[in-house]
Amino acid sequence: MSGSLFIVAAPSGAGKSTLVNALLAEDRGLSVSVSHTTRAPRAGEQDGRHYHFVSRERFLEMQGDGAFLEFAEVHGNLYGTSKAAVAAPMAAGRDVIFEIDCQGAAQLRAVFAGAVSIFILPPSLAELERRLRARGTETDEVVRRRLAAARQEMRNAVQFDYVIINSDFSEALKRMQAVVIASRQRLAQVASTEGALFAELGIRLP
Ligand code: 5GP
Repeated sequence: MSGSLFIVAAPSGAGKSTLVNALLAEDRGLSVSVSHTTRAPRAGEQDGRHYHFVSRERFLEMQGDGAFLEFAEVHGNLYGTSKAAVAAPMAAGRDVIFEIDCQGAAQLRAVFAGAVSIFILPPSLAELERRLRARGTETDEVVRRRLAAARQEMRNAVQFDYVIINSDFSEALKRMQAVVIASRQRLAQVASTEGALFAELGIRLP
């Protein structure tokens, strides 16, 4: 394996997608893994770019064929990371970011021991609730359900390597970038991308 792998999870309302999109826009060496899902596309979402949108039958067929590295049921829909979604960017020498839920994060960690995991937290419960309500499209009941699910989800933060509190957006982005940059300097990463230099300098891995 040559590229770095980044697993990013967060409760809904923590600002995960906005942070990941900003990270991708500023870091050309990073690609996002495009997942498969059985949920319907939202306005503005494109098939093959945001997700590969498939029927439940097709998803289960792929699962039976062993096409997924991990999969999980989230809010009644199936989501999965296909082997192909990782293979293509990795073959191109790019680092890959996985924006997935905690069940998927645990499965991916088992597959890729060197993956770096990042959990994003809101600065407070009140702010999380405010952000969930600010979307404006959800009823009180839905907001309460999401909040309860978020509280449950946040307990998983203890299983992650890094935790970023998204209070100020640009500060949180800087911290995400710092994690990405530092992870690329791990010995195993540098050794795999700079094999020729290591040989020239006479450096051998233990
Ligand atoms: P949404 O439907 O809002 O795009 O995503 C719902 C949840 O599913 C989010 O927490 C998202 O990160 C997660 N998710 C998206 N893709 C995958 C995937 O491939 N595997 C898993 N396990 N979760 C995913």
